[in-house]
Amino acid sequence: MSDIQIEIFPCLSDNYGMLIHDPQSGRTACIDTPDGAEIARQCEQRGWRLTEIWNTHWHPDHTGGNAALAKQYDLTIYGPAYIEGRIPGLQKGLTEGDTFQFGQHDVHIFHTPGHTDEHIIYHVPEANAAFVGDTIFVMGCGKLFEGTPEQMHQSLSKIMALPDETKLYCAHEYTLSNAKFAIHVDPENERLKEAIDAAKAKREAGLPTVPTTVAAERATNPFVTAGNAIELGRRRALKDSF
Ligand SMILES: [Zn+2]
Repeated sequence: MSDIQIEIFPCLSDNYGMLIHDPQSGRTACIDTPDGAEIARQCEQRGWRLTEIWNTHWHPDHTGGNAALAKQYDLTIYGPAYIEGRIPGLQKGLTEGDTFQFGQHDVHIFHTPGHTDEHIIYHVPEANAAFVGDTIFVMGCGKLFEGTPEQMHQSLSKIMALPDETKLYCAHEYTLSNAKFAIHVDPENERLKEAIDAAKAKREAGLPTVPTTVAAERATNPFVTAGNAIELGRRRALKDSF
């Protein structure tokens, strides 16, 4: 078992900031930079020194804190290499199939276009965790700003191919809103009904519904249960005006 620690905390209106810390090597990464000041505060509170940023995609609510954090810490910025110049301060460009070391631990990169063309996710098998940015959400998926339903279907399929118990760290708290649409398209799904009740209880207690798991999303997520790109596209269009 790994002793990796993962912390998640709200940022901006509905983003999550995330830290992954490896006590052995002393390395600490933040996943995306929705709020540089809050990320720095969360690190200091735990006595962790930020050594790297792992960006998933270029949207400002994911990269807005890069410059300030790079000024404050001696750190390395990892991010998607697919489109040059989109990630502020990018030092290590990553593409599908790349791996790098986080202390003694492997980090695997998957290219998951759909929400943006260059979106990547970070899988840390020994932590049983994947940082999925805006590709998949609890009971939802990212809007198709730059990609096609076919691309999103393939991207979600890559995530669904990870081990069932893999924890998926989604970048936004959209669950209760996603739940309304999910139950609308899949009203007889008992697992979905249970998941919605559990999510409501968590939110009422002030807790995040993130992370979810591969197994939970396979059973409840309407963009996964869509089963193919055409149905995914139909549901995505329906949700955009829901
Ligand atoms: Zn985004």
